[in-house]
Amino acid sequence: MTRRRWIAENWDEATATLEGAQAEHMIRVLRAQLGEEADVVAGGKVFHSVVALITDGGPGGKAEVRFNLIAEVESEPAMPVTVVMSIFKFDHMEWAIEKATELGVTSVVPVIARRTERHLALAAMKRADRWRRIAIEASQQSRRSDVPLIRDPVKLSDYAKAPSKAKRIVLAEQERSTTLRAALHEAITAAGAEMPELELAIGPEGGWATEEEALFDANGWQAASLGPRILRAETAAIAALAVVASMLE
Ligand code: SAH
Repeated sequence: MTRRRWIAENWDEATATLEGAQAEHMIRVLRAQLGEEADVVAGGKVFHSVVALITDGGPGGKAEVRFNLIAEVESEPAMPVTVVMSIFKFDHMEWAIEKATELGVTSVVPVIARRTERHLALAAMKRADRWRRIAIEASQQSRRSDVPLIRDPVKLSDYAKAPSKAKRIVLAEQERSTTLRAALHEAITAAGAEMPELELAIGPEGGWATEEEALFDANGWQAASLGPRILRAETAAIAALAVVASMLE
C-alpha cells in the first residue's frame, strides 16, 4: 500500500509536525495512531516517517501531529516552470492553479493584465492565501514533494520587464508561425545538458492588449501558439503544461 503523504508545517533534523487543518483531519477523520507510518514532506524532501506524538487540542484547541523522520525517500523534482497567469474569473483561476500544481509547476505568478476585469484585480491580493491553500491541497493529492510558490499578484507591465534567466514564452492565439512545441524545442536545445527554466504567460479571458504584445516583444518574450482554436485561459494553461511535461519529463 502506498503511504499517505503529508506536507509538514515545521520540521527539524529528526522530526516534523503538522498543525491546523491537516492535523485535525489526520486525528479526527483518519484517526491517526501512534506508530502509524506516513510519508512526510519537510523542506522539499520526502521522509518515510512514523507518528510519534498526537495532540488533539479538543474543540477550539491546537491539534498537532508529530512524526519521527526515519529515512529520506526518493522524490520527483518539480518541473522548472513558472506560469505567469493573468487574473481571470476566480473559479476558473482556482481550477487552473489546482491543475498546474498537479502537472508539477514550480511557481505561479498571478498578474494583472490590461484586460483583467477591474473588480478581480482589486480583489486579487486578498485571494492569494486561498490560492496557496489550493496549491497545498493539490500538492498532497498529487503526491508532490513540494508546494508550488504562489506569488502575490503583480502588474503584468512590471513583471514582463523584470529580468529573468528563464526562457520566456507568451501564449498568444494571434501567433501563427511558432508553435509551443517549436519554442520549447529551441529552449531545450539551447540549454544543452541542463533542464531549461521556463516562464509561460497566459492571457486573461479577453486576451492580450496590443500594447502588451509589444511589451512582451520588447522584453525578450517569444510568442507561441497552441493551435488554431481559441482556448479559454484555463484550458490554455493546462494544455501548455501538458506539452511542456511531454517534452521535459
Ligand atoms: N482574445 C480571445 C480570448 C483569449 S483566450 C478572444 O477572442 O476572446 C485567453 C488566453 O489563452 C490567451 O491570451 C492566450 O494566452 C491563451 N490562448 C488561448 N488560445 C490559444 C491558442 N490557440 N494558442 C496560444 N494561446 C492561446
